[in-house]
This record gives sequence, C-alpha cells and structure tokens, in this order.
Amino acid sequence: MNTLDRYTIAYKDLSIGVHRISMQVDDAFFKAFDNSQITSGTGSVEIELTKSESMLHLSIEIDSKIGVECDRCLEEVIIPVEYEATLIVRFSDVSEEFDGDIMWLTPAEDQLELAQYIYESIYLELPYQRVHEEDENGNLSCNTEMLEHFKIVTEEEFETIATKGDTSSIDGNDWSKLQGLKDKMTQK
Ligand SMILES: [Zn+2]
Repeated sequence: MNTLDRYTIAYKDLSIGVHRISMQVDDAFFKAFDNSQITSGTGSVEIELTKSESMLHLSIEIDSKIGVECDRCLEEVIIPVEYEATLIVRFSDVSEEFDGDIMWLTPAEDQLELAQYIYESIYLELPYQRVHEEDENGNLSCNTEMLEHFKIVTEEEFETIATKGDTSSIDGNDWSKLQGLKDKMTQK
C-alpha cells in the first residue's frame, strides 16, 4: 500500500449525509513528496464530509507542527500550521482544473485523493520567513555553532586581512615602483 493511499476517500461507499473522517499526517507523508522543503511533520486532519447526489462538501481542519530548515542556521525549526477550508467536489465528464475551491472528478473516479490537497494546503500556510524564535533574553535560539560556521570572516578579521593585503601581497620591488608612481602623481 502506498503511503498516500491513506489520504484517499472511497466516497462511493459512503451513504448520502454527513460523515466525519480523521487522518493523521506524519514524517512518512511529507517524505512521499519529491523535493519537499518540509523535513518533518505531525498533525491531524479532521474532515466533515457531506455527501449529496450531485456533490461532496468537505469542511477541512488541519492542525499540525511542521519542520522546515531555518533560514539563518539551516537546522530544523518547528512551525505550527493550522488550516481551515471548505472543499467542494463536483462531477463532470470533462476534466476541469482544480481552482482551489472546487475539485472535479469524472463519474468514473470512485475515489477522492486528498494527499496532494493536504500537502499543498499546509505548504502554502508556511510563513515566508522561517527562523528559530527569540528566547526570553531576546536571543535567537538558532544553532550558534552552525551560525559561526557560515560566518566566513567577521568585520574585524576582514579589516586585518585588508590591512595586511596592502603590504604582504605585493613584493618589495613592486611596492617601490608603486610608491614611485604615487610620488609622481602627487608631484603633478
Ligand atoms: Zn535557526
């Protein structure tokens, strides 16, 4: 059984009326998507599905904790993601694009696959900036070792390198020529 099959509803087996369906998302769920920026995650997906003759009406509530790479230190940061939406499923012989609100199925399709929908709903709720939050002292709780590692040179180190560069990278001969040139220019 595919990891994502758990997020499929065999709606044709359901009676007309209201049904409550609970699903859980976990690390395996997020790993099933290629190139996912989500590194881990746990959460619940609560669905109230109302089936009528012509359509399905789904009220979906997602409550999750999602792990993504921190923009500053690249360590994992856990971000709470909550999502609430209504999804309408209609049936048509002509396959139509999902516009975010209405999903279309052909009458031949007897299953409603929600894995992609759930994944994208969570993904789109993630904040643009993903960083470890500040602790009570106002320090970012990032991995400081990682931060040090990324900081190639501090400003102070840069100054030292720049100062040394004036003399050590030019040998004595070049240096005197340069000095001579400089003297000529200032004489003008
Ligand atoms: Zn961080």
